Amino acid sequence: MRPETNEDEEERYEVSSSSTFEAFALTCEAISSTRSKLKKIEVLSNYLRQLQSEQDLQTAVTFLSGKIFPAGADECEVNVGYSTIWRALEETFGKSQDDLSSYYLRHGDLGSVAEEAFKTSSPQQRRILLSSFDSSDSEKQLTLSEVVSSFHELARAKGKGAIERKILILEALLARLRIPVEAKYLIRVLTSEMRIGLVEGLVEESIAKAFGRTLEEVRSANLVSGNIALVSTLAKRGELHLAKIEPLKPTNFMLADSAQDPQDLFQKFDSMPVFSEFKYDGIRAQLHKRSDIVKIFSRNLEEVGKFFPELVSSASKLEQEDLILDGEIVPFRDGKPLSFQLLQRRLRKKARSIEDVPLMYFAFDLLFRNSVSFIERPLSERVMALESLKLEQPLTLSSRRLVNRIEEISEMFSESKSQGYEGLVVKDPNSSYTPGRRGRSWVKLKKELDTLDVVIVAAEYGHGKRAGVISDYTFAVREGSDLKVIGKAYSGLTDLEIKEMTDLLKSITEIDQGYRRIVKPKIVLEVAFDAIQKSERHDSGFALRFPRIKRIRWDKSPNEIDTLDKVRQIYESQRVRA
Ligand code: ATP
Repeated sequence: MRPETNEDEEERYEVSSSSTFEAFALTCEAISSTRSKLKKIEVLSNYLRQLQSEQDLQTAVTFLSGKIFPAGADECEVNVGYSTIWRALEETFGKSQDDLSSYYLRHGDLGSVAEEAFKTSSPQQRRILLSSFDSSDSEKQLTLSEVVSSFHELARAKGKGAIERKILILEALLARLRIPVEAKYLIRVLTSEMRIGLVEGLVEESIAKAFGRTLEEVRSANLVSGNIALVSTLAKRGELHLAKIEPLKPTNFMLADSAQDPQDLFQKFDSMPVFSEFKYDGIRAQLHKRSDIVKIFSRNLEEVGKFFPELVSSASKLEQEDLILDGEIVPFRDGKPLSFQLLQRRLRKKARSIEDVPLMYFAFDLLFRNSVSFIERPLSERVMALESLKLEQPLTLSSRRLVNRIEEISEMFSESKSQGYEGLVVKDPNSSYTPGRRGRSWVKLKKELDTLDVVIVAAEYGHGKRAGVISDYTFAVREGSDLKVIGKAYSGLTDLEIKEMTDLLKSITEIDQGYRRIVKPKIVLEVAFDAIQKSERHDSGFALRFPRIKRIRWDKSPNEIDTLDKVRQIYESQRVRA
């Protein structure tokens, strides 16, 4: 298991205890050297079992999962860039830029550069460097807990002179290493690029094997707590059942299955009604509040509250409430969503500034309220609790409706699109909140739609709340100088637009049949749909599936509408895609 070292290193090599960084690095190397999953699990579970201290166990598991600090830790970034590491490697191992560049070209990975720099460096140079760090620990083997303390120091080094300080911290660490493979994994942990073929699932399996638990127990605890490091110690103590959801500790997010079209979506649910919600395009975020502390966690469970101070301050006003909400942060102005890219800008700047875009937090779920976990309760109950909160903007509730029929889903989908949202997420009201799982309880519908520009050739009065207005439109595409009917749509326009349309259609009526009017082909609509089918119903020979009006194209004249040829093309391309 131990890689080759030169003689000088051999002399200094001592049997390593499991809490050293060397034992960690050697374990990584052994995991990396086999492609067999079973072997990886065996090596890792043996190592984890040997770790005496819970702190070391948590550290090893965190590092092995490609993270530097455990989920939900106060510190989440060391803020050490490639160039800082590069300079520390130059200094520690007495290498030039060119040396390191040539190693980098050979390996394409900074960890392997560090390993090679170590292998080819002079032990004397490292010893001199080591003696320059006036520390009583310098002769002892570097331990996992010392690495963690240095990482905290790196995270805390901020402001003027921070880079120089970080380089010194790194040099002090590197100079304490005894074998090259330690350098490789120290840098890989630091750059969050472990590259040892160990997905989190294998870490879970190894924890289960190490402490004699079932994989299911470990996985559930990990999904609920979102903290694999904590799970490892609970497994060791036989307390996995204690993994629970609580404010200020992020949990994994529930995920959605996806559907091709409303029909497909409808079929995924066993019974109706279902909740249909707008799909907001922004950043998924968990909002946690305990007493007067508010934290916001992103999808990768990082704390991002500092980027969204207006959300934090609005949540702080929810006095008497301890909460965990799930929702989406969306850039939003004058009642409309803005481009998602605008949010990215705010995250890049790492802090809020005056010219930042306004935003809204659309809460769509409630996981915890006042010492009670809601995740096992049905969605209908969670929604009731959510709706009873006194949220103030920019915190608000997502748009939600109970629906029974495909047509309602179709209609809400076009409403969502026409208001600038991404589609729908439809949810089973009886389902519990299952952290980290993608199941059929939530199904998203967001397919980008083909649209056609068509002209209205006939129209009918509506029913129910649309009685008295002309709200159903028959439309056609062009073939040469003829018009060929392709479908009928009755959704997508606002009440005001329908009223205006009614007046307009009356004024261009050619034949009044009472409930129906044949009109002059003047008004162009942009129509979205889910698919084109062959059909005998219309003289075009085609029909649109779930057509809905995206907008009235006042800017287009009837001779600019789409042709039957384009319809044929879309029809053929669908067949190819299917
Ligand atoms: P996508 O790229 O489609 O957003 P995803 O991979 O990020 O998908 P999924 O779980 O597959 O995540 O799809 C659901 C996503 O939709 C959620 O992660 C969330 O960010 C977003 N979303 C927007 N509105 C809602 C809503 N009302 N309910 C649930 N999720 C919503």
